[in-house]
Amino acid sequence: MNMNRRMFFKSMGAATVAAAPISSALANVVSPKKWDQTCEVLVIGAGAAGLFAAVSAKESGVKSVVLLEKAASPFLNSTSLSAGSVNATGTKAQFAAGVEDRGNAAEFAKEVEKTGKGLADPQLVKLFAENSAMALDWLTDHGVVFTPQPNSAFRLKRMHGCDKHTGAQYVDVLFQNTKKIGVDIKLNTKVVELITNTEANEVLGVKAESNGKPLYVRATKGVVIATGGFCGDVNMIDKFILDFRGALTFASANSEGQGLKMAEKIGAASTHMNFAAVYGYGVPMSKDKNNRKGWIFRGHVMNLYGSITLNKEGRRFINDDQNSTKVAQFLASHQERTVYQLATEAQLSDFMQNDPIQVISWDRTKFNQEKEEGGQFINKVNSLEECASEMGCSFDTLKNTIDVYNRSVASGNDEEFGRRFMKGQFLSGPFYLFKCTPVVGITIGGLKVNQRMQVLNEYGEPISKLFAAGEIVGGLHGTSYIGGCSLAGALALGRMVGEQLAKNQAAP
Ligand SMILES: Cc1cc2nc3c(=O)[nH]c(=O)nc-3n(C[C@H](O)[C@H](O)[C@H](O)COP(=O)(O)OP(=O)(O)OC[C@H]3O[C@@H](n4cnc5c(N)ncnc54)[C@H](O)[C@@H]3O)c2cc1C
Repeated sequence: MNMNRRMFFKSMGAATVAAAPISSALANVVSPKKWDQTCEVLVIGAGAAGLFAAVSAKESGVKSVVLLEKAASPFLNSTSLSAGSVNATGTKAQFAAGVEDRGNAAEFAKEVEKTGKGLADPQLVKLFAENSAMALDWLTDHGVVFTPQPNSAFRLKRMHGCDKHTGAQYVDVLFQNTKKIGVDIKLNTKVVELITNTEANEVLGVKAESNGKPLYVRATKGVVIATGGFCGDVNMIDKFILDFRGALTFASANSEGQGLKMAEKIGAASTHMNFAAVYGYGVPMSKDKNNRKGWIFRGHVMNLYGSITLNKEGRRFINDDQNSTKVAQFLASHQERTVYQLATEAQLSDFMQNDPIQVISWDRTKFNQEKEEGGQFINKVNSLEECASEMGCSFDTLKNTIDVYNRSVASGNDEEFGRRFMKGQFLSGPFYLFKCTPVVGITIGGLKVNQRMQVLNEYGEPISKLFAAGEIVGGLHGTSYIGGCSLAGALALGRMVGEQLAKNQAAP
């Protein structure tokens, strides 16, 4: 007979259980003598998911919402660092731009599942697809101007860029609203434990630390964990993301997987832990090899303007139209960590003129300085000889690569790799050589949830009154994510869980 958690506890009896825990779960049963504060809904983490959960819960009628954020500001998370690209279907912004995409949630969901190689949780993807427009429309109604953009994963323009080109814009709008509608936000307040009932199957509240003092907050309707991913902790990358052990990370330092660890401690199950969003074209922040922080260079976008991708031997190795993740995966599968891109002056200036972001989190002045002076990852070289010398590869190999490629551009047919976007030959210098390495930064694996975003235990049962949203949730993307789905997932499902808690639908 399969025994679920409840049956197990029943058979043991509470007293026995307390003395002999089956996991570390029961070590966590530490109800305080007195709660410092009681609210209906408690949210942990002020990123896209947490802020939206708090706002929608309050807007939908929850009387008291408390949001605890460990950082001193809500602008120190992955949401704020992000480029702000979000994918959705059937939005007001699409409609205004003449993209008729209403009623297509099922198609959008299929596109997301396809990229994840069929390993995403279909129910979760469906939920995301059906809720995506509501989140973006709310932001539109609150002043964000979205522009629908193409993305090769989608039949229609389902990626949306925002007018400030950063996810900090969403934090700003949501944070202003939390203040307006009376969400009680406590910054510098780190949640350290989830507090459960004796059976560890219902969450009662949390223990936090604020200014060095413990703070116990009780939540009568539910606790939403929205603490983000774990790629800010390089030890967790090395432990779980085995293909990219030792790689750089672009995640916020606050993405330390604390929510995941707290939930696992009370018996929550996790899923898809060995997958992460990784970009092929990363740039180290420091020359110190022990510093694993990195930035994302949007080299895959530059390739749309004609640049080529080379390995360290000076050969092309992949269709340059491929997205950055595929480049990283290819490198990992060949135990390679260095990748170069070569651009002509015209290709680089075309990229800069037409695309507002070159390196995520850099402004144009910083990029221009790097372009002119180098130092981080760009080398301006006057000739292919100089380029080969910079790469440490054979000039003959590089010259042969370029000759073959130039012929492909002339004929319009890339026989080697089937590249479609070819723009300009490499004839005379100067050229720009970009030296990059894969950079990991968005967690794909995380807590297992059901259709109500309730966190499940290892027996597949919901842990009562515990919900999750955002990057901490596993299973939305399958094996790899489409740029724009992580932030959009955080917004869409964060908003949804807040609303459901208000309607009391979420609580079992
Ligand atoms: C540089 C960069 C660019 C990106 N670009 C895109 C993009 O364009 N499109 C896209 O879809 N995705 C992108 N992503 C990923 C996306 O930004 C995140 O997946 C998404 O914003 C996660 O939102 P979240 O609310 O789940 O987590 P976060 O934004 O990480 O917020 C979590 C919050 O929880 C707080 N917290 C953590 N632990 C505790 C604790 N114990 N107690 C209290 N508070 C805690 C953190 O301080 C943080 O403020 C990018 C990420 C980065 C880093």
